[in-house]
Amino acid sequence: MKITDVRTTTLEGNFGWILVRVFTDEGLVGLGESYWGAGVEAAVHALKELLVGENPHNVDWLYQKMIRGMSGSGSTGGTVVAAISGVELALWDLKGKALGTPIYNLLGGVYRHKIKVYADCGHGDRPTPQSWGERAKGAVSKGFTAIKFDIDNVMPERFGDPYHVTRGGWLQGQQRPVSNQELDLMVSLLGGVREAIGSDIDLAVDCHWNYNTRDVIRMAHAFEPFRLVWLEDPTPPDNIEALKRVTDNSPVPICSGENHYTRHGLRQMITTQAVDVIQPDIPKVGGLLEAKKIADLADIYYIPLAAHNVSSPIGTMAACHACASMRNFTVIEFHAQDVPWWEDLVLGDKPLIKDGYITMPDKPGLGIELNEEVARAHMAKDTTFFG
Ligand code: MG
Repeated sequence: MKITDVRTTTLEGNFGWILVRVFTDEGLVGLGESYWGAGVEAAVHALKELLVGENPHNVDWLYQKMIRGMSGSGSTGGTVVAAISGVELALWDLKGKALGTPIYNLLGGVYRHKIKVYADCGHGDRPTPQSWGERAKGAVSKGFTAIKFDIDNVMPERFGDPYHVTRGGWLQGQQRPVSNQELDLMVSLLGGVREAIGSDIDLAVDCHWNYNTRDVIRMAHAFEPFRLVWLEDPTPPDNIEALKRVTDNSPVPICSGENHYTRHGLRQMITTQAVDVIQPDIPKVGGLLEAKKIADLADIYYIPLAAHNVSSPIGTMAACHACASMRNFTVIEFHAQDVPWWEDLVLGDKPLIKDGYITMPDKPGLGIELNEEVARAHMAKDTTFFG
């Protein structure tokens, strides 16, 4: 079997969902997804010349060929690795279909058939304890037993931004000082959530890299009574020593990793034990096998893995195949509570997420297929439908 073509389309979900198809001379087609970002779809097209004529079974070798063919090893990341990840996911779908087995069987088999999913609740609708409590109860009523809120940007009027704009802080490159008033607001919001859902539901909080080390240590101590499963991305992602200072001084578990790429990019965070929970984004970090290697490295240090995820059901299910095969996996993110057609995008056993879990399919490859009619209805402006 030889690869003959690589094609893409981008859908407008709550992020740009860049879907990748890899075609072969035997008629089999693999489906994958790359993490969003400027230039990623074009980078997937650039990978085509490295792939055509190759045997799609050689996934690990093709990963290295793509890394080295685009920009070399070492500190590779960003657009290139996100693009490579989407192709890698599609290669696994192809390989599974060719061999007639689910992808997880090719990654060592399963530790679990049911993958725990947590619901991202963003900033809620308004920064009040009641609003956050209602948002939390809404997720729990859908069956989720784990949820996450964004604790940054709860006082956006200080910066003139609407509070529901995510990622605003780090795009501005600000390490925001935290006032007593803001800290009190944060504590009251988390109190509203805990009061609404009780103590048994897992609760995580995301900082989006917005804070300096001392402030976030202070925040972590203030949040300790809420028994968080983790505090995410406390400081900017560039300095692992600073992150370790936070982790070593935090009474709540610290989680990070979604802004790092490949096993090399996450190595220092793991080997210096700068995090309590490692959090790669699988369709961004390099793909399923790279994520599995990162999980195994973390497992040597007894660090659990929680998968960051903002993908369509394609990237989500692909990631779940890797998660099923990881000894130290705990939970994967669901970031599309407000996208009503998220599940409609695929054909297969529904609902995909039931009672807060994704049950792994036993069909070959990913085990789900793209609903082309739904996909065509949500195409981004400057894309083609796998043209
Ligand atoms: Mg995050």
